[in-house]
Amino acid sequence: MCAMRSIDGRAIAKTISAEVSSAATQLSFEGITPTLAVVVPTRDESTAWYVRSIERTAARVGVTCRTVRLEDPSGDELARQLDVLSRDDSVHGIICQTPLPNGVTLTQMGEHIDVDKDIDGANPASLGRLAAGVDTFAPATAAAVTEILRREEIPLAGKQVVIVGRSTVVGKPAALLLLNENATVTVCHSRTEDLAQVCARADVVVAAVGKAHMITREYVAPGAVVIDVGTNPTDDGLVGDVDLDSMREVISAATPVPGGVGPVTTIQLMQHTVRAAANV
Ligand code: NAP
Repeated sequence: MCAMRSIDGRAIAKTISAEVSSAATQLSFEGITPTLAVVVPTRDESTAWYVRSIERTAARVGVTCRTVRLEDPSGDELARQLDVLSRDDSVHGIICQTPLPNGVTLTQMGEHIDVDKDIDGANPASLGRLAAGVDTFAPATAAAVTEILRREEIPLAGKQVVIVGRSTVVGKPAALLLLNENATVTVCHSRTEDLAQVCARADVVVAAVGKAHMITREYVAPGAVVIDVGTNPTDDGLVGDVDLDSMREVISAATPVPGGVGPVTTIQLMQHTVRAAANV
């Protein structure tokens, strides 16, 4: 029997905050104020909450956050705004919040974000650069998964990592990042056969499905590490994709929801912005 360690995402985020803050201070001595533009094309309340948390985190680490709110923009208006910010030398990082205007995809809008400022990996060119091993910004959530595993000193080289989910914002970039760490990576999705058995072979399971508590005891091997990316609103509040209660006697470590991947993702945006500012 194995006692599960709960990985404290907030503590990891605090450590990264101190590093980012010190790098931002260093840049300010050189006359550079790291600046993040957050484009908000919606009045959606859950987005507003997330934007406020980005603004607070930015203020804490010395990143200037410029929130650009657009009232029900068309796709063309949103694209034009992203083009303007891409050309603005005082802006180092750009993110575009969802939901987007009807009929518009993040991939389409991402193409209007300069890759050097694409600190959340929305431009398909950033994913291509990641695949090609060129220095670039991965989507913050995918980067957070690798950062957590690295800081928790979870061995990855030669290990079996199974990712459930193949989205361009989480599953695919996480697979590329973990491949770079020399893990043997399997990416699963809704058509994967015998999903539980595939996951149960893994040293590390990354759940990025978007289905509350879908990953249960039968999906994990004894001693496995489980990273839960899922954030699913339910009547009981926000829950992950992983049913931790069914497996805490079996696995070695896991990220909780909330308090796991989420806080590390937000600070990752700041880390990327400061890196982008230093690259100028
Ligand atoms: P997504 O675009 O909806 O992708 C979900 C993936 O899960 C797809 O690849 C889908 O397969 C797969 N899937 C769905 N049902 C499945 C099933 N029954 N068995 C196996 N695979 C299944 O979602 P996402 O944007 O990647 O987000 C995933 C989760 O992470 C969501 O809960 C989201 O809220 C959360 N998230 C958290 C953060 C954070 O900061 N913590 C950031 C971003 C996202 P197909 O490709 O075959 O459809």
